[in-house]
Amino acid sequence: MCAKALATDPLRLRAQQLGFDLIGVTPADPLQAADFFARWVALGFAGAMGYLERGIDRRRNLARLVPGARSVICLGMHYPMVDDRDPNSIRSVDGESPKGRVAGYALGDDYHDIVQARARSILEEVQRIDPTSKGRCFVDTAPVLERELGQRAGLGWWGKNTCLINKHRGSAFFLAEIVTTASLHVDRPATDHCGTCTHCLDACPTDAFPEPYVLDARRCISYLTIELRGPIPRHLRSSMGEWIFGCDICQDVCPWNRRAPTPVVEDLTSRMELATPDLLELLELDDEGFRRRFRNHPIKRTKRAGLLRNVAVAIGNVGGDSCVPVLARVLSHEPAALVRGHVAWALGNIGSQDAFDTLRAARNGEADRSVVEEIDAALARQSRLDDPDN
Ligand code: SF4
Ligand code: SF4
Repeated sequence: MCAKALATDPLRLRAQQLGFDLIGVTPADPLQAADFFARWVALGFAGAMGYLERGIDRRRNLARLVPGARSVICLGMHYPMVDDRDPNSIRSVDGESPKGRVAGYALGDDYHDIVQARARSILEEVQRIDPTSKGRCFVDTAPVLERELGQRAGLGWWGKNTCLINKHRGSAFFLAEIVTTASLHVDRPATDHCGTCTHCLDACPTDAFPEPYVLDARRCISYLTIELRGPIPRHLRSSMGEWIFGCDICQDVCPWNRRAPTPVVEDLTSRMELATPDLLELLELDDEGFRRRFRNHPIKRTKRAGLLRNVAVAIGNVGGDSCVPVLARVLSHEPAALVRGHVAWALGNIGSQDAFDTLRAARNGEADRSVVEEIDAALARQSRLDDPDN
């Protein structure tokens, strides 16, 4: 016997009080995105995130997460995006330290805790209107499937940039899902409004979209700066610009984000100073400094060496000759070979006489083969600069 669907007005009101901008409900039917996701992983587009495929069957069938699941409540909480920045302000001029960029979603404390705690309050509200119901909250546990759920629940459509886009709120929001045994009124699915637009595909600096609606994560700056452990492929580094943690370009250029309102949840904007971090200062962070600065912050995920690797690449892209003394100091004293290797690349990319002299001096004392190889590759740039026909 089918249970009578319950009205969702009390949930909508509670969601609004908690700072959620979007809420929608969809039946807990099996997810087709699981097949897309499996193909995406099989094609290698997930890079080292192939582990996400584990447990995909559980995610396809929501009853395996919550036995007797009938409804999924999808929630969206807006976060800020810092755009319209003067691109010249991040370059190193007159001896000033160059500035990096951090994706908008990381300009506050770790969103998992913030969003999860508020989603749990909605779950309590569900249990108040249906006291026999059971449910669980999920925040960012399956990147593709939550977008299908969000689309089915009417939150937005899966855009060509692979983000979920809402007509009024754009795409800068965190998603959360509550899978529940309660039978709730469902919403109409959202429809696609990308039309003939290709702004995001054209703007991606690393050509990370093999086709519309499909991302090759291996080329995406977000993946390279956050998920990838080890060296960043050399051929992609100079396309990464000043981004040191994530990238917002394909969202910044999306016309639907121009209409998005300013966010209201304070915890998600508590680290705005990170919007333009001082790159040379970051490059000299020690373990203790890293821990103190990024406690409760998404950046801690990269660990110190991962962040400094990204910072070195950004300095190589937007720094100038005035950065060479700091790069030289780090090249001779930094314990992590991963960081030294990327600092060598940065010096080669800066390409001044001082930078090449620093590389030659460091090569004699360098014991790590991977770093020597980076130094040699960086020095080879000088030969190419000296002899463009070479
Ligand atoms: Fe390209 Fe940046 Fe979008 Fe990744 S986040 S697809 S690198 S524009
Ligand atoms: Fe769609 Fe254009 Fe936005 Fe890309 S930039 S997601 S094509 S509307």
